Amino acid sequence: MSVSDQRLLGRALVRRGILSDETLEVLLAQQREKGAALLDLVAGSSMASDEAVGRALAAECGLSFVEQIVVDEVDPAVASQLPIGYARSHRLLLVEDGPESAKVVCVDPFDTEALDDVRATLGKRVEVGVAAQGKLTDAINRVYERQERGNTLEADEGIKEEEAIDILESDDDAPIIRWVNGLFFQAVRERASDIHIEPEEKEVIVRYRIDGQLYVAHRASRQFMSSVVARVKIMSGLNIAEKRLPQDGRISLKIAGRAIDIRVSTVPTSRDHERIVMRLLHKTNVLLDLSDLGFGERDYTLMHQLITRPNGIVLVTGPTGSGKTTTLYACLNRINQPKINILTAEDPVEYELGGIHQVAVQPKIGLTFASALRAFLRQDPDVIMVGEIRDKETAEIAIQASLTGHLVLSTLHTNDAAGAITRLVEMEMEPFLVRSTVIGILAQRLVRVLCPKCKEAYEATPYELQQLGLDAERTRLRDQRQLSPKYQPHEVQYEPVGWRGPGMPTFYRAKGCDHCEHKGFTGRLGIYELLMVDDTVGSLVLRSADAQTIKRAAQNAGMDSLRDDGARKVLMGKTTVEEVVAATQEDALFDE
Ligand SMILES: [Zn+2]
Repeated sequence: MSVSDQRLLGRALVRRGILSDETLEVLLAQQREKGAALLDLVAGSSMASDEAVGRALAAECGLSFVEQIVVDEVDPAVASQLPIGYARSHRLLLVEDGPESAKVVCVDPFDTEALDDVRATLGKRVEVGVAAQGKLTDAINRVYERQERGNTLEADEGIKEEEAIDILESDDDAPIIRWVNGLFFQAVRERASDIHIEPEEKEVIVRYRIDGQLYVAHRASRQFMSSVVARVKIMSGLNIAEKRLPQDGRISLKIAGRAIDIRVSTVPTSRDHERIVMRLLHKTNVLLDLSDLGFGERDYTLMHQLITRPNGIVLVTGPTGSGKTTTLYACLNRINQPKINILTAEDPVEYELGGIHQVAVQPKIGLTFASALRAFLRQDPDVIMVGEIRDKETAEIAIQASLTGHLVLSTLHTNDAAGAITRLVEMEMEPFLVRSTVIGILAQRLVRVLCPKCKEAYEATPYELQQLGLDAERTRLRDQRQLSPKYQPHEVQYEPVGWRGPGMPTFYRAKGCDHCEHKGFTGRLGIYELLMVDDTVGSLVLRSADAQTIKRAAQNAGMDSLRDDGARKVLMGKTTVEEVVAATQEDALFDE
């Protein structure tokens, strides 16, 4: 944790127009409560890009802003004079060490204590530059990784087919171990979420899922398969001899300082070999704070309010793979404190959270979401997270839990936020019970994030503006909405998304470069629609209004639709029009 003066830092960001006074106060309160660094809270939200923050801080302190840190030019031996833990927690990288002076790049120039320590350690003058947080973190990882590679997993490049055959002829297991380790190493480096190892007729194919898409990463000779399967089974504690039944196991690894949990599943195939699918749970990726999810200012502030209420039901909706679990974990992470009793029922437990009691439901033995929830109520919880509300019984107990003074977090499979209300009514929940318990519903999707190194700027077309609902007509309607008596900002002021000219905005398209493995994208980002069940929406719930009517009312009160939030992220240059349109196809655009 940075020890810089968070208030001084915050004031600097206000002076430079990055934060408003009100937002700063909210963030400082969260910062004190959670002990998170202010810069992390800012960086994770969509309030400003980390580059804008870096430039502002550099300007404020009269330091140079470092656009690019050329990792190959940084000597790992120089950098590692500062221990990696220190570099990470204070977010600074020693890039040069000359006879007279040294040079450090940092994210937070207000962390003067750390900079003084560096001066004292090196015993010379230290020149300071400021960089964007993302770039610096990436540079720290890559520089120290070069230093560490020798003693962690070394097989960095894949093994070619000829080598694979050699492995079979050797009695030594080491090459197989290296090869399998290499798969993990590369998967982590490329941020893969899954590794598939599949026997084909003549060869073994290894595919990685990166940002939701599968890519072939390696091919090896078919003869190689049994050794690989055996190695993975040993690592995950599975029975090597059992080849006819599916098995599930788990591997915990540490790669380049990052803890990774891997869920392993084997399934026998008709090709006489098992196929293996491994899901990588990057602890650092999974356990995010609320501020890391990319919420806009309104959604961020309101989400924080919702999950700090003493009771009520907060629902997250979206299809499978839309990041709902990550959001729920980030919510729990935000409110997790020793004095709060948090219980979860999950299928499966994807990530173990310290200080929280988690139960994996097992329908086979009768441990369902409903029965776990019922048992929880006797365990005096404050907050309950239920993986999913699938049936009437679970919905009933969730409502009962909320009515008896608990905060309940859960997910529902519906396309949009308003649909969650009608789904609960379809499950035969009384509208008045839904009205008196559900306090907020978040719908979400994931879109791919453009690679910042190679994204290509172009001038948006009128058609694209229309697709995103950014055209003059809709912008005017949204701006007008704020003047209507129906407008309910929930005490959050923000500018409705829109394009107010002059000319056309700059959008970006994907290109591809070495940095992003020629995919044009690096990682994914959520787009959100947060429906507050306030008096307006509540009265529609009581009248059993349809989802479209509820959505329209919420939009008039200031809610951004999924597409609106996507449009905002296109305007920020974080993603493309195609990504947003594809992710929000069923999100009808309408305004009154
Ligand atoms: Zn790129």
